[in-house]
Amino acid sequence: MSRVFDQYKRASKSLAGGVSSSTRVNQALGHPLYIDRAEGFRVWDLDGRPYIDLCCSHGATLLGHGDARVRRAVEGALARGAACSYESELHAEFAALLCDTIPSLERVRFTGSGTEATMHCIRLARAVTGRTKLLRFEGNFHGYHDQVMFGARELGQFAPPLSPQSTGVTPGLEQHLLQIPYNNVAMLNQAFDQNGNELAAAICEPIYYNAGCILPDPEFIATLRTRTRESGALLVFDEVLSAFRMCAGGAQQYLGVTPDLCTLGKSVGGGYPLSVFGGRQELMQQLIPQGDCQHSGTYNAHPVAVAAALAAVETYREESFYPHINALEERLIEGINAVFQRHGVPGLARGLGARFGIYFGIDGPIRNYADAQQHDRQQMLRFIAAAIEEGVYFHDYGGVACHHGFCAAMTLDAVEEALEKLDKAVARLTTS
Ligand code: PMP
Repeated sequence: MSRVFDQYKRASKSLAGGVSSSTRVNQALGHPLYIDRAEGFRVWDLDGRPYIDLCCSHGATLLGHGDARVRRAVEGALARGAACSYESELHAEFAALLCDTIPSLERVRFTGSGTEATMHCIRLARAVTGRTKLLRFEGNFHGYHDQVMFGARELGQFAPPLSPQSTGVTPGLEQHLLQIPYNNVAMLNQAFDQNGNELAAAICEPIYYNAGCILPDPEFIATLRTRTRESGALLVFDEVLSAFRMCAGGAQQYLGVTPDLCTLGKSVGGGYPLSVFGGRQELMQQLIPQGDCQHSGTYNAHPVAVAAALAAVETYREESFYPHINALEERLIEGINAVFQRHGVPGLARGLGARFGIYFGIDGPIRNYADAQQHDRQQMLRFIAAAIEEGVYFHDYGGVACHHGFCAAMTLDAVEEALEKLDKAVARLTTS
């Protein structure tokens, strides 16, 4: 028996379900991938098998595993004692770098996870506006706190009845939520006509990567910006996944739309646990000690994570960084689509910057969650299983079309290597 199966059995005796995080079970495998070591764009499992990593830590390791610059910064922080729960010069230096890089940021705060960042943004929006309602978009993912853990029972309806997406979620919270489909301007206008002056905020994924890769229509995102501004609701871009993915200023720079508040997560920490929320000074001053809205945490902005994050963001700002990312993306996406075509498999890869989605069996446009839901999940699981067998790791998160991605340590030669492996994987799909 392989060490991987052995480990899953052993882990299940002390870790609930054998994992530290529910989505770590890859349903295409039936267990998590157990990593022994990682370097650049490759990971090795417990049996010593190498994989080209197209998960990249759910998007956290945009520079690749064990990046030398991040490592030097981490070692420097450790050498100085890594005292947590104090402020250091590094915190303000990193905050200033973020404010200089991301259009909407005048002031920031640090937290540990994307979940905390969206939670604090929503609380702050309510504190600032004195309103409670939140507009969100069907299927957009904002983490695991109760307020955002509601989904529609009927897809594509206006303000449909919402049900909790987990047992144990506080009942009744959904009365503060309005949910409409992404990219639907008519419903967006209707939502603001009927509820605009009760909305504290509208929160969205400015690039909807959690359903693969869906871009907002220019009219949709422009209307969202105008209507929030007119109604006094704050526009929150959840950039936990989209930050630094296609340009240093994130989706807000790419789209040319500046939100009132935003979150950054995953890649911002360079593979270390750090997330950010922030916005205009007049909003952020509502936080204690200037105002009366609470945000605190013992491990917030751990010096090791801040050092790693500073090194990572400095690297994203280098001139050569995004031309390299774009060249990789162009070849990888074109190559995966060519593989599907060659084998007559109805698959579609679509990407923006370093993250992409793969859809199976969808004919029409993919503009929202309901469209993405139509994909052939079983075919996706077979594809992921075959790719892993050939040595390319894709993660399955258990939901609709997942997001995948590559890191900057990837090379064009490595893309060709991945495409050769994927060609063999897709060939297996058609013969099995
Ligand atoms: N927002 C978005 C857009 C995300 O993609 C995620 C994680 N996939 C989160 C929030 C939650 O982040 P975390 O897992 O760090 O809590």
